Amino acid sequence: MKEETKPLRKKIEATAQMNRIMAEYFFDLNEASASPDRKVAWCTSVGPAELLRAMGFAVHFPENHAAMLGATRLATDLIPEANAIGYSPDICSYLTSDVGAFRKRFTPLSKAYPGIAALPKPDVLVYNTNQCRDVQDWFAWYSRELGVPCIGITSPKNLNEVTEAHIDDVTRQLEGLVPVLAEISGAPLDMERLSEVVALSRKCTDLWKEVLETATAVPAPLTFFDGTIHMGPAVVLRGTRQAVEYYEVLLAELKQRSAARDGAVAGEEFRIYWDGMPVWGRLRQHSELFSGLRANVVASTYCSSWIFPSFDAAEPFRSMAKAYLELFIVRSDAYKERYITEMMGKFRIDGIVYHDAKTCPYNSNSRYGMPQRLEARTGRPHLVISGDLNDMRCVSDEQTRTNVEAFIEQLEEGK
Ligand code: SF4
Repeated sequence: MKEETKPLRKKIEATAQMNRIMAEYFFDLNEASASPDRKVAWCTSVGPAELLRAMGFAVHFPENHAAMLGATRLATDLIPEANAIGYSPDICSYLTSDVGAFRKRFTPLSKAYPGIAALPKPDVLVYNTNQCRDVQDWFAWYSRELGVPCIGITSPKNLNEVTEAHIDDVTRQLEGLVPVLAEISGAPLDMERLSEVVALSRKCTDLWKEVLETATAVPAPLTFFDGTIHMGPAVVLRGTRQAVEYYEVLLAELKQRSAARDGAVAGEEFRIYWDGMPVWGRLRQHSELFSGLRANVVASTYCSSWIFPSFDAAEPFRSMAKAYLELFIVRSDAYKERYITEMMGKFRIDGIVYHDAKTCPYNSNSRYGMPQRLEARTGRPHLVISGDLNDMRCVSDEQTRTNVEAFIEQLEEGK
């Protein structure tokens, strides 16, 4: 059995700056909610945040809030509140924990950011079903509960190629949101401002890509577990200068560490790809489990999902439509397999771990034979971990540990 050692993981100095901009973001949302002159929109994580920001809305992301509930290990106790009103324990545990928290009038923001008593009250709820149908159901619940309009984009899915017809469809839907948003915000859309926000989002996304790609170095200066934390600004602050400035600082630090061959996992021997959602309530344990076995999870589908190379300030609507259709989660298995194969080559991956998340079939790619097909194609072994993003009742720590240890041993034997 591969011997575990005391995990040694390096601290990222830029974290302090990230914490500061995230705090500023949440306090600004809180102020916007209290101000009669400002409007708040709630948006799905890969929804049209650029459009909302350009139209002056302060933007809250319920999935980010739900991930906080998961990471603080509070989600499991809140899920039954949503089950009690008919939302099944089998559907998205982001949805059920967030709705449960709302029903209990609870938010982890209050503890993290003293002075914030509650979530910002929305003036409009805006979704994109590119990731799943659950987001629409989730926002529809809030719409009924709070009496605010809920609008959005119904996206095609399972795409092998993103065609002009797909882009036309989503472009028209995006443009169709504008009159409703203008009426709520009280101001027309300024196209120059939209181009500016899309340019900032593009810059943010390019930098985030470079940040993740520092982990192509051996040893890698970054882990997937670091990435899940440091992607915060790419999710909630894309389209702002703060996010761009933050990723410039983070990138410089990681490049410096990479040049010094200063790996995130001391003595890195194995390089792993993670497919699927993180297990938010076990981030630290999983990070320590892998690093204790000298394995670094260097790349993931999840962190890379906030890379949108198609944003183009010259064509804001059409490029947003294209960017939000090209997402991994929107694509066919054939596309996903090509993508993961390429990532495995680029990051010099020894093996792949699939997280089969009980309540998120959309981000669980191990259910239709993909692990076996990819293993045959790449020659790299795989492991499937059963668990969940937020519902820790679906997680068996003992089984995960045993399986990961055996997997790393298998990789060692294959070296
Ligand atoms: S993609 Fe999965 S985790 Fe995300 S909102 Fe949809 S069901 Fe929930």
